[in-house]
Amino acid sequence: MQLMKATRRDFIKTGAAGLAAVVTTGPASLATASAAEKALPRKSIGIQVGAVSFVDEGTEKVLDLFEERGAIDTIYLTTFTYGRGLAGRQIPGHAFPDHGSPESDEKTFYGGNYATPHAEFYRDTVLKQTRAPDHGDLDIVATVLPAAKKRGMRVFCSIEDVFRNDIPGVRDVTEVDLRGRRAGGLCLCHPEVRAFWTGLATDLCKSYDIDGILFFNERNGPLLNALGASHAQSIASSRVTCFCEHHQRAAKERGIDFERARQGYQKLDQFIQAALKGERPSDGYFVEFWRLLVEWPEIIAWDRLFDAAKHQVLAEVNAAVKRVRPGLRVGFHIEHVNSFNPIFRATRSYAELATKADFLKVVVYNNCGGERYANFIRNVGSTVFRDVPKEELLRFNNRLLNYGEEAKLDDLAAAGLSPDYVFRETQRALAGVQGKCKIYPGIDIGIPTGAKSRKASPDDTYAAVAAALKAGADGLILSRKYSEMQLANLAAAGRAVRDAAKG
Ligand SMILES: [Zn+2]
Repeated sequence: MQLMKATRRDFIKTGAAGLAAVVTTGPASLATASAAEKALPRKSIGIQVGAVSFVDEGTEKVLDLFEERGAIDTIYLTTFTYGRGLAGRQIPGHAFPDHGSPESDEKTFYGGNYATPHAEFYRDTVLKQTRAPDHGDLDIVATVLPAAKKRGMRVFCSIEDVFRNDIPGVRDVTEVDLRGRRAGGLCLCHPEVRAFWTGLATDLCKSYDIDGILFFNERNGPLLNALGASHAQSIASSRVTCFCEHHQRAAKERGIDFERARQGYQKLDQFIQAALKGERPSDGYFVEFWRLLVEWPEIIAWDRLFDAAKHQVLAEVNAAVKRVRPGLRVGFHIEHVNSFNPIFRATRSYAELATKADFLKVVVYNNCGGERYANFIRNVGSTVFRDVPKEELLRFNNRLLNYGEEAKLDDLAAAGLSPDYVFRETQRALAGVQGKCKIYPGIDIGIPTGAKSRKASPDDTYAAVAAALKAGADGLILSRKYSEMQLANLAAAGRAVRDAAKG
């Protein structure tokens, strides 16, 4: 760690030449590196990719492209998810990239575990049947791992907390919302859900010679969900979770009054619904919101309880992996809302996350970031901050977040966020973890956006990668999935990595 810190300082002094000392572009160039370069830690240049790409294009061909175009040495192989953000071909309604099959897999996509689940690891959970049926008997980890290893590439299994409601057993472990209805997500306090995650991580690490796990969990707590304070969600303040028996028990252990929490969220629901209709409280929207928090501190306590369960799962996954082999590495995907939303930021301490992970994939997606950030401002600007003109709210929020000059609200989706945003958010993460874990910014390569929103160009991709490396990132993760990336953009990322190495 001392070495990396010194290197970052050197980079500030010497510019790109300093960076050249620590960046190599993969196994091939390592072979030709000088002795001094070999002694320095290698940057990890990774890409997220799902099974379908290897099926459609062939394993060796995909790995060739990764090495040659993207300067990639690390594969984040989507191994468990029911979501289309990490798995499947391009999502419906968006243009296909210039590789892979141009046919939609909307009708055949199902999701699940793309490796082979071994029953002994799932004894303590009802979630026993999660094998993905999409590609027959194919085991994607068994297929890709030997081919990647032969090239000296690292392989991490990506596992994501996204389920569907027709999986055997899933209805027994879903969350309960404010009105007592079963919700779609799985309760992170439920012992059988926790046992599933540790079982899955243990299974993958014991059954395959992988380098570790990258865990994706983008779930927000009830406060943010009530406010619609993310970029993607609708404002459904009566549907917040989780009020199940396991959460009630956990609350009791912490001395949180369940009934008061429920009543607090009912009051919050009333406030949000009235705000959405423009029914202004006599003291103003923000004051009324703050008063709710003061009078019902259980609102915050319940939100903290949700986060505690989520972070407990992260810690348990980390511990399970380390029990298999201490040298295996665990990373967490840190969701985009952590970048946009100061309320969410306050609940995520990088220093604390660094105690549970070997690396953090910090989302700094800048192209789709414009559209997402604008959505977030419009969401919070329709309730808690409704008294503030949205353009002013954006400027104010930029200051809170230490963003630089970004586009105006109406132009933000088309403009995207700047490479400077990537630089600042990378630096913030590095400063937060203080060298206690690695920071691999997630770089946006062709993440689908609305019709009039920015689409990644090769120049955008080059600039974002260069900014992350200039900020001192320990590596990168090209995101979200290879099956939505144009090859010219992948090549631009590779060029930026190689140029940084050259200095
Ligand atoms: Zn629960």
